[in-house]
Amino acid sequence: MQTTPASSSRTVPLLDLTAQYGALRNDIRAAIDRVCDSQRFIGGPEVAAIESEVAAYCGCKHGIGVASGTDALLCGMMALGIGPGDEVIVPTFTFFATAGCVARLGATPVFVDACPRTFNVRAEDIAPRLSPRTRLIIPVHLFGQCADMDPIVELAASRDIPILEDAAQSIGSTYKGRKAGRFGRLTALSFFPSKNLGAFGDAGMILTDDDALADRCRMLREHGSKPKYYHAHVGGNFRLDAIQAAVLRVKLRHLDAWTAARIRNGRRYDELLAGTPVVSPFVVEHNRTIYNQYVIRAPRRDALREHLQQRGIGVEIYYPVPLHLQQCFAYLGGSAGQLPHAEAAAREVLALPVYPELPPDAQEYVARAIRDFYAGESGARG
Ligand SMILES: *Cc1c(COP(=O)(O)O)cnc(C)c1O
Repeated sequence: MQTTPASSSRTVPLLDLTAQYGALRNDIRAAIDRVCDSQRFIGGPEVAAIESEVAAYCGCKHGIGVASGTDALLCGMMALGIGPGDEVIVPTFTFFATAGCVARLGATPVFVDACPRTFNVRAEDIAPRLSPRTRLIIPVHLFGQCADMDPIVELAASRDIPILEDAAQSIGSTYKGRKAGRFGRLTALSFFPSKNLGAFGDAGMILTDDDALADRCRMLREHGSKPKYYHAHVGGNFRLDAIQAAVLRVKLRHLDAWTAARIRNGRRYDELLAGTPVVSPFVVEHNRTIYNQYVIRAPRRDALREHLQQRGIGVEIYYPVPLHLQQCFAYLGGSAGQLPHAEAAAREVLALPVYPELPPDAQEYVARAIRDFYAGESGARG
């Protein structure tokens, strides 16, 4: 590949899961075979095992396996009794599910701007959005880096408002040495295939130290029943499949090595991109990011994106439209200019390939393409 002369003949995907699968193929297929041979597809030992293994990994007492990160948020909010008339604080700069679940329960998402450096929500931006109807705060640990939790926890405690951490992108990330999942009453994890710990389909988990909430989540994921066919609450079918649990158990053993490789790749980009007009991700000193995404800020972002795509490089915009400007939330009265840091981020961000198996020469190729783009435009623009 190094001798290939034409740059356009090279491709660097945003994410390549085939390399990971190649290394684990035998273990994963044996794990899936175990489930096939047992014919226990719902619940059972694999689900129970991954629940305790992920909970232990995150330092939490309970893990409740669910069908997706979205269901983790939804079921968690149902367990907290969120409903019509309630306001829930959410970032405007996040994946849709964070706020979508609030609206699905008939509650009102209240959007908060992003920190211009980390893209995460900050206590100082949350405080003015609190009201007597605020029933929950959902900080998202975006792109793999924890939000600044001490001031958020303090603010929430002073008003007696629970926190639900959306750690869908941040399993294993730390803030002042404490792992994501240690700050909220509940935490939502996603095992969507592109997350750092990805299943072979959709999967997710709720974490909590609270025995009563854990019980409630377990009931709600089975239509609110306990025992079976006796329904104290209206829940849903939010269960985690045994096949997904079996795959996740194999992968969890490798998560720390993958995270280390992502961090190494992130640092390598930091060096390769130094001195270019793009801004590398800002990682706060007391944070350990897991680089679910390596998101740069780039002048002339859309043109850069096209340039990189033409060179066979997979890039993506997370996220092009802040949630307060989404059509489905127009009824909330959001308008352009209201949450300016998030709106600027939506115009400037671009995610580069950072997956663990990404070879160094591919990173050099990406960095060179970025340098070429800005070299080509100097002089052409004032
Ligand atoms: C991926 C993600 C979700 C939803 O997870 P799914 O498993 O895709 O349902 C929720 N919040 C954030 C921040 C995410 O990145």
